[in-house]
Amino acid sequence: MIEAQGLTKRYGDRTAVDGISFSVHPGRVTGFLGPNGAGKSTTMRMLLGLDRPTAGTVTVNGRSYADFPAPLRQVGALLEARALHPGRSARDHLRWMAASNGLAVRRVDEVLDMVGLTDVAGQRVGRFSLGMGQRLGIAVALLGDPPVVVLDEPVNGLDPEGIRWVRTLTRRLAAEGRTVFLSSHLMSEMALTADHLVVIGRGRILADCSMADFIAQH
Ligand code: ADP
Ligand code: ADP
Repeated sequence: MIEAQGLTKRYGDRTAVDGISFSVHPGRVTGFLGPNGAGKSTTMRMLLGLDRPTAGTVTVNGRSYADFPAPLRQVGALLEARALHPGRSARDHLRWMAASNGLAVRRVDEVLDMVGLTDVAGQRVGRFSLGMGQRLGIAVALLGDPPVVVLDEPVNGLDPEGIRWVRTLTRRLAAEGRTVFLSSHLMSEMALTADHLVVIGRGRILADCSMADFIAQH
């Protein structure tokens, strides 16, 4: 479970995230919806301990990590524009990530299978399509078998089949009892993927309800 209380981020006199409070519960897929510039990435970076809030607190499964990033084992994250090394194969990239995070290398083949990249695992990452890159990013997020998974725009650039794949995978992660939080700026994509919705606009929470209730009201 992730809990944000009064979470605020200011850049100079600009308020990117304005005192938001919400919880992300295990066992379901929670979507974080808002237009570009609404504050989604800034919020996610704070949830991941990568950015320090100007005010407010974040706890993940009851623990606060204001002063250090979460290890891959606790929270798996997909962030936009993660640097990949174009000359390395997908398998080598994952092996390197596993080794540098103290994770078992045998997990690499498991996550490659989970994201459907086994057949192309030996190809150079530089030749990957956007969708394959997203799958690889999700594989990195899952390497540590984390109880909490945070994905920033995971369906960005994916075709409808890829979007359905993200839905199937994230539902499976939620059905296993994990906490799954993912962002998107497109309601049409979110409706295919999330069970619960937190909507953000101009740094404030506009809605926090089940997907069914949200669709019934809008
Ligand atoms: P989203 O992910 O919803 O597109 P962001 O969290 O990236 O939104 O941005 C929210 C607001 O904060 C935007 O107005 C953006 O310009 C501003 N912002 C984000 N990061 C920075 C930064 N490092 N410095 C200054 N302003 C920033
Ligand atoms: P992170 O993935 O933690 O954000 P970076 O991608 O910024 O880290 O990489 C940190 C350092 O590790 C850099 O010097 C980079 O060249 C090296 N590195 C990252 N991924 C690989 C890889 N797959 N193989 C070899 N070196 C790598």
